[in-house]
Amino acid sequence: MPQLSIWEKESFFSTQDVIIVGSGFVGLWSALKLLEKNPSQKITILERGIIPTGASTRNAGFSCFGSPSELLQDIATMGEEKTWQVVNMRYQGLHQIRKYFRDDLIGYDPSGGYECFRKDSADWELSAEKLEWMNERLQSITNLKNTFTIADKKLAVFGLEGFAHLIESELEGGLHSGKFVQALLQKVQGMGVQVLTGIEVNDFTIENGMVSISCKQELIFLTKKILLCTNAFTKDLLPEIDIVPNRGQVLITEPIQGLKLKGTFHFDQGYYYFRNLDNRILIGGARNKAFAAESTTEIATTTIIQNELEDFIRQRLLPVQPFSITDRWSGIMAMGTEKVPIVKAINEQVFCCVRMSGMGVALAPVVAEQIASIITQS
Ligand SMILES: Cc1cc2nc3c(=O)[nH]c(=O)nc-3n(C[C@H](O)[C@H](O)[C@H](O)COP(=O)(O)OP(=O)(O)OC[C@H]3O[C@@H](n4cnc5c(N)ncnc54)[C@H](O)[C@@H]3O)c2cc1C
Repeated sequence: MPQLSIWEKESFFSTQDVIIVGSGFVGLWSALKLLEKNPSQKITILERGIIPTGASTRNAGFSCFGSPSELLQDIATMGEEKTWQVVNMRYQGLHQIRKYFRDDLIGYDPSGGYECFRKDSADWELSAEKLEWMNERLQSITNLKNTFTIADKKLAVFGLEGFAHLIESELEGGLHSGKFVQALLQKVQGMGVQVLTGIEVNDFTIENGMVSISCKQELIFLTKKILLCTNAFTKDLLPEIDIVPNRGQVLITEPIQGLKLKGTFHFDQGYYYFRNLDNRILIGGARNKAFAAESTTEIATTTIIQNELEDFIRQRLLPVQPFSITDRWSGIMAMGTEKVPIVKAINEQVFCCVRMSGMGVALAPVVAEQIASIITQS
């Protein structure tokens, strides 16, 4: 960087009330919620990509709160209380998204969410057995008697001959993640937030009551408080945090004539997910085929996972129709020992809101509200 002018120092690089690191869903929602609490705050977001480059613009765009077999697996690993707590947060988040943004602005498609099952699979046996019990538990969250319903008859409607059973959740849908991030960006910029891209935070220290942030681009920012919204990449800045990066790979087909698939679909405890995007099939997941290799922050695609996703389409979604793939990509999720997000103060000036465990679309507005309260009260 050349020497800064006085104009640059006093505008772009002036001392901030809060600097947020990361401009994914969580960073953007956090800026919005902070400003709602105190509109006069000076807030800057620092983003190392030219656009957000983690998960928020690279996901599948499901607005979901969890499919039956995934929720049962979560209950087995982290217990009922935490599972329903996270489901409640996701459900509240879905409401907030639609309260803040018009459907057409974010490409919201209320076509419902589904979980597909193979004949006699253990996931089906358990989900069918526990369905009534799950619906009872979910009623206090969704206000619906039957959040999940068996919808096997729709398999033929969607051309899903490769499966034997279907469970529907009419409360879920899909959105366009690119439009959604753009809408959030425009909203916070309109509220006065400065978003600086191409700036990678290397380190931060507290000096004379201020947080001094140093960046790869040899810039120093001063702020009263720093909020890390760096999800899968947080270990670079907070090495002790309980986060394991998990890469998710995706591909999309060319438009398919007469495509019957409509909605967002989960399979195999959420390890596979597919949806229609107009008349194209978008599919992602299969990281359970290469757990170790996919536990990485490297944004790249691999032959093993991409072939697996293509085979899945060929075997289960389009057994007779030829198709070709137009785009392939990946993004990085943050997992850990449990799926409860980490929303906390590290000290009076350093905060973090991370580990969205692969379902940050819905969680982001709620965790942002929580961290904004914590920061405002500190
Ligand atoms: C393939 C895939 C499919 C998914 N599908 C869905 C789905 O359908 N529904 C759903 O709810 N969730 C889905 N997710 C998860 C969801 O996208 C994430 O939970 C969510 O985007 C997390 O948002 P975030 O803001 O916490 O993180 P991110 O979007 O990863 O944002 C973090 C940002 O921090 C920036 N950053 C990191 N380190 C630094 C640094 N040192 N300095 C400056 N900037 C930095 C990164 O560039 C990045 O832009 C999916 C994820 C993937 C990868």
